[in-house]
Amino acid sequence: MHIDAHQHFWIYSPGEYEWIDDSMAALRRDFLPHDLKLELESSGFYGSVAVQARQTLEETRWLLELADSSPWILGVVGWVDLRSPDVRSHLKVLAQNPKLVGIRHIVQSEPDDRFLLQPDFLRGISALEEFDLAYDILIYTKHLTVAAEFVQRFPRQRFVLDHLAKPPIKSGAIDLWAQGIRRLAEFPNLFCKLSGLVTEADWLHWEPEQIIPFLDIAFEAFGPDRLMVGSDWPVCLVATSYARWFEVVKNYLPGQQSECREGVLGGNAQRFWRLNAR
Ligand SMILES: [Zn+2]
Repeated sequence: MHIDAHQHFWIYSPGEYEWIDDSMAALRRDFLPHDLKLELESSGFYGSVAVQARQTLEETRWLLELADSSPWILGVVGWVDLRSPDVRSHLKVLAQNPKLVGIRHIVQSEPDDRFLLQPDFLRGISALEEFDLAYDILIYTKHLTVAAEFVQRFPRQRFVLDHLAKPPIKSGAIDLWAQGIRRLAEFPNLFCKLSGLVTEADWLHWEPEQIIPFLDIAFEAFGPDRLMVGSDWPVCLVATSYARWFEVVKNYLPGQQSECREGVLGGNAQRFWRLNAR
């Protein structure tokens, strides 16, 4: 069962999606389940995990409603304010829906580079295990050292790194990134998504050859059992078609054994978020 481990839905409004600038004009429209269903089917994918894009409880509830009415949306990674003293009561209500599989905070946009280690944020993370929720780490390469300190504090919490921490594909300056990824991958409770990479390349002129060295490091560091493919649709559309990104990964995988291949294409996501049981 092939699963897209990372995609978004939205009803577009300029005020709520200020990060969609003129260079991303193609994203200034609604992206809803029926749009994604067509893409999934044409790429031979069974289902997806929908990830938050706005930091509101209202969006999390909306994504859960979409998942309830579309069985192929297998899970939702939502948002709650993890720094809030009320975090437990919010989680308690939201986690009643078994489709809530994880929480994410847009840490990459926080002005404090050590945001992950803020005491109130750490307290929120410590509440997730009780509700059987994973946490999506959305950071840039510059945050990798802090992320290792962060993950080290929670050996029983399931973590997944989004987009390989957005590697410097455009510049090709791989070394510092590779060092940070290798360090972070030492924690066995951390998985990683192969997603969001083409948007770190030259959108109009990237070639798979520029991305493969980064996939090599990911496979070397995490091994094939902790990697999961995701599209980052619709954001990926600024740099690729939906199908083309999966082609890049599928073309890379024949070097791996078939069991590993199936894991990366869906089995690892199922296991990580326990999607079977939901
Ligand atoms: Zn995304």
